[in-house]
Amino acid sequence: MNAEYARFLLLAREIRDLGAAGALLAWDQEVLLPPKGLAARARHRAALAGVVHEKMCAPGYGELVDGLAADGELGGGLEDRADAAAAAAVREAKRDRDRAVKIPHALVTELAEATSLSQQAWQEARARDDWPAFAPHLARLVALKRREAAAVGHEGEPYNALLDEFEPGARVETLAPLLSGLAAEIVPLIAAIGEARARTGDDPGALLRGDFDVVRQEKFSREVLAGMGFDMAAGRLDVSAHPFTSGTGPGDVRLTTRYDPCDLRVGLYATIHEGGHGLYEQGLPVEFEGTPLGDCASLGIHESQSRLWENFVGRSRAFWEHWAPRARELFPERLGRAAPEALHRAVNEVRPSLIRIEADEVTYNLHIALRLELERALLAGEIETADLPALWNARLRSTLGLTPATNREGVLQDIHWACGLFGYFPTYTLGNLYAAQLREAAAAALGDLDALVARGDTAPLLAWLRAHVHARGRLLRAGALCREVTGRDLETAPFVRYLQGKFGALYGV
Ligand code: ZN
Repeated sequence: MNAEYARFLLLAREIRDLGAAGALLAWDQEVLLPPKGLAARARHRAALAGVVHEKMCAPGYGELVDGLAADGELGGGLEDRADAAAAAAVREAKRDRDRAVKIPHALVTELAEATSLSQQAWQEARARDDWPAFAPHLARLVALKRREAAAVGHEGEPYNALLDEFEPGARVETLAPLLSGLAAEIVPLIAAIGEARARTGDDPGALLRGDFDVVRQEKFSREVLAGMGFDMAAGRLDVSAHPFTSGTGPGDVRLTTRYDPCDLRVGLYATIHEGGHGLYEQGLPVEFEGTPLGDCASLGIHESQSRLWENFVGRSRAFWEHWAPRARELFPERLGRAAPEALHRAVNEVRPSLIRIEADEVTYNLHIALRLELERALLAGEIETADLPALWNARLRSTLGLTPATNREGVLQDIHWACGLFGYFPTYTLGNLYAAQLREAAAAALGDLDALVARGDTAPLLAWLRAHVHARGRLLRAGALCREVTGRDLETAPFVRYLQGKFGALYGV
């Protein structure tokens, strides 16, 4: 290792360690912070973010990164893993830094201020169903994000500049047709399931609605998490209003969940979802910890890990073959002698809904397609924020046949835009697609996955994910990782096959 590279590692690690401390402050705010500490906490976080940005933009660090990136020696011997890793670490550090320095400091602070104000405004507007109170904040944020996109620069549409932050290298010109192609396949399936539901009129979900003791729910969640292979000596599970995964590295991964005393599904599947994110974090390469390579490949890949465990494992019939006896033991009054079959049906209800986070696997991606379409048009300046409620409602009516009675159930439902997160939503659908493609590759390597899940033996699946996805960190970009592991570019076909197979059988369509 040359001296320059050693110095780079030291600085890069310092930047990431400060970021990790910031993540801990954010976790603490969601999980433990007393309300009166909120104002001071916002200052702590802003101060730390300022230091990180300064260190990232420091000319000395820049010269080091640029010098190493131009150095032909580094990564010259690609057969050597350490050499290839060094080249990738510099490549990713340069990418992060180039993006950071392009955004003027004044725009960074204006965005930080505007987002914290708009989050506050969104919370109040959503509670009172008061779109006009939020609209000016959103208009200001969109204007700032348009400036950010222009500052960062982009090929094709301005949207690409924002998408790239979450899904490096992705382009909306490729992504949008993928999503509309998916919608074209899903819409007939939703219609067929709707007809089948109307014919039978049954309500399979009723089994898991009712009184479910929260202490026992937590016990169950922890047992399932342990069964997945989540290491509690390197992580935690707590409760927060909105479930999320955070932490400081593979040795400290923090999950949160949320229990609904009247519905077993809410807490269980939030835990499994975050558990999937957590397994990825625990499996990131320790040898790269503190460098850009110690990170996930992209948010789409991150979401693929949560979806794979939540849906392909947790919502499978095989999962309930293994877990039904324990669930009946914990909730005898509610579950009685419920069979795996009934539990499987109860967690796979398909019903078009107004709210994205309550949507089932089949309808979910239509909610994402709607958001992508609106975000893209906003960024391109084709529509204005004032048009959003009407466009939202019209689009939902045409795709899912539903019209929100209030903006609270429509355009005001998600926090993302209030946080300035434009370009983030598509990573949810990418996650579903990557997950389906990875699942087929895992099944090709391991054989009958359902048989393993039914025995409660998911260790081979986790080992496969560790070797092919987790341990690679950010060594490969998402697209390259997908090609390397599955042998193909990302496609919708594996996900469509999965939906048609599973829900076709469940609903007899
Ligand atoms: Zn997630």
